[in-house]
Amino acid sequence: MNATEELLFSRSLLLEDFDEAALQQLRRSRVLVIGAGGLGCPVAQYLACGGVGQLHWVDGDTVDLSNLPRQTLYGPADQGQPKVEVGAGRLRTLAPHCELQTTVAYVDETNLPGWIEQADLVVDCTDRFATRQLINRCCVRFGKRLVIASVIQWAGQLLMVDPSDHQAPCYACVFDPQTPQTDAACGAYGVFSTAAGLLGLMQAHEALKWLTGFTVKTGRLHLVDTKSLQFDSIVVPKNPGCSVCGGDC
Ligand SMILES: [Zn+2]
Repeated sequence: MNATEELLFSRSLLLEDFDEAALQQLRRSRVLVIGAGGLGCPVAQYLACGGVGQLHWVDGDTVDLSNLPRQTLYGPADQGQPKVEVGAGRLRTLAPHCELQTTVAYVDETNLPGWIEQADLVVDCTDRFATRQLINRCCVRFGKRLVIASVIQWAGQLLMVDPSDHQAPCYACVFDPQTPQTDAACGAYGVFSTAAGLLGLMQAHEALKWLTGFTVKTGRLHLVDTKSLQFDSIVVPKNPGCSVCGGDC
């Protein structure tokens, strides 16, 4: 590590339980961030600035004026431009030490497996139930750690999935893929700007901890009511009959 890097990450290195080996582990890590909205913006920014070596950021959406209060990497002049390209442009100036790859596309059965296979960890910042199930399925298949969050109005949820822990549930153990779900889109129900930011930061926080060897709690669904600032955590067991991880995954 050179002197610039030493100074850049000096406040992390001062921590009692964080050392240069942990930082190097972070610098060698490749993270796939799916989604560049209210969750994806803080996630990508804090992972890139926080020391992740390689970030692959995927989203097919473009910037809309209604995004700006919570998607703070974009401005009015970026309307109509692909979010990941605008966001990566900003991050290249903020975190030049991070190697950023962008893909302007929505994930599907065809493109996702290859991207997940290359990643050390995946962060799901999407807002569709079916997409989340697909990401979970691929992560279980390739044994990749996954940090999932969702947010609507004032409420958020956070779940960490570790396929290498055969006692821990996957997303499909907790939310049955066969149960019909209505996606609670921000456009229909609204979202408080900082509620999205808080949940995104929690995702980035857990991802950085996980990548640097800290313990991350699986088997718990974290529920955040940002209006009353109430944090709850409920135990969610593995479903032995889960169609995704119930067998020999
Ligand atoms: Zn499962």
